[in-house]
Amino acid sequence: MSNAIPVRTRAPAATRPAVGKDASQDRQKRMIADHFDKLSTAKERGQKVVYTFVPGNLTELLGALDILPVLPEINALQSGMRQKSGGYIAEAEKSGHSEDVCTYVKCDIGMLRAGNIGPTGQALPPPDLLLLSYTGCFTFLKWFELLREEYNCPVAMLHVPYQPDGVITPEMRRYVVDQLESEVIPALEKVAGKKLDLDELARRLELSAKAEDDLVAVWESARNTPSPIDGYFGGVYYIGPIFSSFRGTEGAVAYYEELRAEVEARVAAGLGPVTPDGTLTDQRYRIVVEGPPNWTSFNDFWHMFSREGAVVVSSTYTRVGGLYDTGFRHSGRDPLVSLADYCLGCYTNLGLPSRIDLIERYVRDYRADGVLINSVKSCNSFSAGQLLMLRELEKRTGVPGGFIESDLVDPRYFGKANIDNRLQSYFQMLDARRARRAA
Ligand code: SF4
Repeated sequence: MSNAIPVRTRAPAATRPAVGKDASQDRQKRMIADHFDKLSTAKERGQKVVYTFVPGNLTELLGALDILPVLPEINALQSGMRQKSGGYIAEAEKSGHSEDVCTYVKCDIGMLRAGNIGPTGQALPPPDLLLLSYTGCFTFLKWFELLREEYNCPVAMLHVPYQPDGVITPEMRRYVVDQLESEVIPALEKVAGKKLDLDELARRLELSAKAEDDLVAVWESARNTPSPIDGYFGGVYYIGPIFSSFRGTEGAVAYYEELRAEVEARVAAGLGPVTPDGTLTDQRYRIVVEGPPNWTSFNDFWHMFSREGAVVVSSTYTRVGGLYDTGFRHSGRDPLVSLADYCLGCYTNLGLPSRIDLIERYVRDYRADGVLINSVKSCNSFSAGQLLMLRELEKRTGVPGGFIESDLVDPRYFGKANIDNRLQSYFQMLDARRARRAA
């Protein structure tokens, strides 16, 4: 999957207020700009670059070896937000990639063919290694097979066993640690030209834990009424640093401290989050959302919620790069075990029963009025079994489920009027239920 350093864009409707910016948002923008500056000069400075995916990313390990990460999913979603993905996907389809392939992959391939220009307009360096941390999505394998053909560079794979029963056994943990020791770390050391300093890795993992504490406090602030955050549309901005290149850095710690302080100030003032329709304090519906957002019409999509007074109190997509609110924290005490547990616990690596349990918990903990699924056409990892999940969640929680369909970055699959109609009907259903219960 597929996560996120989106840069906020202007709402398309001229009458709509632009989404406001907090100081933490400016800080995140500066961090991203600095990262892409470093990437653009990496080759001339002799710094090594590894491409890797968001779920199961080993950012602290790369950082401890002074390697810069590139996350192709993030480049794809950025292209979607900047309205470039349609052209990139068309380019990939012209060269034979089927309409059914995950659109992140096709967007990435099209972007590569168009010069591999990143979201800041600077060219991205080719990878010195492809680091495939396999956490549940088969597409990851095929994606890096394609990139290996393009770049003719080595691949290191970390095979993470699927968690069918929601339990990490000692054998699963040992299997991942063994691969880190015998394959992944040696491959990275070869690229970096130096040995891994385990103390430096441990230091970075402790920094990760600090940022994770603050992120969890931000998520849990949504238990308040009004919720001071939108845990989906706003949430994708909050996960940017921790799910990507900055986990295990002082920069990420400072970002999450600042973000948490901003959110706590909104709680104290009784304010809701800033949305495309201004500050959403009068919240009529509290929703839990499963599935990734659409990126090509992101603000339009958000507006369909905020205009109706709907706030998303929790979402699964904002957990794809780490499920910290179930208690996991990175730790420097046993660094490789910590990395193994992180990879094993990724949302994409969980079976359907665990995912249902998690969403049920969100509905109860955040006192949600409904569960809504955005089923994404090209993402099998998320979409398989979603209707079954919805029925089970309705049964267990008693709240109404809603179902809409769109895509990640293919603008052909965002049917604006259709999605808007379905959402309005869904909110009316919540109203009717509320009226029945009050009668
Ligand atoms: S199929 Fe889904 S999880 Fe897999 S790479 Fe595509 S968007 Fe990510």
